[in-house]
Amino acid sequence: MQLHELETPCLILDRRRLEKNLATMRQQAQRLGVRLRPHGKTAKNIDIVRMALGSRPEGITVSTLKEARYYFENGITDILYAVGIAPVKLKRAAALIKDGADLTLILDTPEQARCVAAAGRSEGVAFPVLIEIDCDNHRAGVTPEDPLLLAIGRLLGAEPGAALRGVMTHAGASYGSRSAEEIRSFARRERDAVVRCAERLRAAGLPCPVVSVGSTPTARFADDLSGVTEARPGVYMSHDLVMAGLGVCGTDDIALSVLASVIGRQTKKGWLIVDAGWTALSRDRGTAAQALDQGYGLVCGIDGRSVGDLIVADTNQEHGIIAHRQGAPPDFDAFPIGSAVRILPNHACATAAMHDRYFVVDGDTAVAAVWPRINGW
Ligand code: PLP
Repeated sequence: MQLHELETPCLILDRRRLEKNLATMRQQAQRLGVRLRPHGKTAKNIDIVRMALGSRPEGITVSTLKEARYYFENGITDILYAVGIAPVKLKRAAALIKDGADLTLILDTPEQARCVAAAGRSEGVAFPVLIEIDCDNHRAGVTPEDPLLLAIGRLLGAEPGAALRGVMTHAGASYGSRSAEEIRSFARRERDAVVRCAERLRAAGLPCPVVSVGSTPTARFADDLSGVTEARPGVYMSHDLVMAGLGVCGTDDIALSVLASVIGRQTKKGWLIVDAGWTALSRDRGTAAQALDQGYGLVCGIDGRSVGDLIVADTNQEHGIIAHRQGAPPDFDAFPIGSAVRILPNHACATAAMHDRYFVVDGDTAVAAVWPRINGW
């Protein structure tokens, strides 16, 4: 089957670009001397995650327990669930451990530590736990000098239902960087924060075998991760326009696109209308704050190559409005009604989350495979 035969909108994955992105990050992890614990939240698919792991059957990161169960049932046992644990999810987490998964949880409050320990006791498991560290004021975590670090560590160490395994952080603020040097500085902050916390825990007689960092920009630009044991990038697998805007990849490296059909034109306004609105592209406007605003996505031909400065300037639920970045009229003859375009996403995780499967191509327009995605929680 060829791409032009697919019903639109749908999600296309270019396996050739994917393989190149995976190899680049594997080499980077090797160079830095850390284990790669790829985040499976962008892919939500076992074929992609197996390719990311390569020949080494090592661990992964997930963002939902549904992903954890899915990857576990497909043969991956070492799984870090990297969203602060909600007590209501502990029964499901315990079931995974009882079934044989080496599932690690994260938390950053004494209340969570007590809930985890109590649930572990009543379920008859010892939940492995990483304490979440705030390295950049972005979201969650205890700051490196916070007395809570040792308080939480001691709570976990004192209870048979939990086992302190280490610390983790995510430099989400690196997404707002304006230069490679700024990303490198976030990578240093990421490393320094968790290494400092590991030292504090060890000095207090607490175990800290795992020292975990990870975002795609910082993993790509880090130059020294000494003291760190693993990195958890995820979006690097497909990359996206936000990563391209940060200089982490080029637009030619983006492996994910949404196939859409031209369903109309507004010649006076210089618009092409396609059948991919925000339900296909997502509402993500991650490039709006970057030097080059890509609207809701950059338009490519059906072969995946850029056609210049056409972007999805606006979206409704099922309509995308394509316009030239500088307002010039598009070449309407090149996009007849029914013709197909591919739209590169701002944020791969958000766009992919709108779809339940990938149509896989190998750098051309022939559909080589169809892979499912595990959405939901
Ligand atoms: N670790 C955690 C806790 C995350 O939340 C994320 C992404 O949100 C990652 C790792 C992976 O980062 P990226 O999406 O930049 O690859």
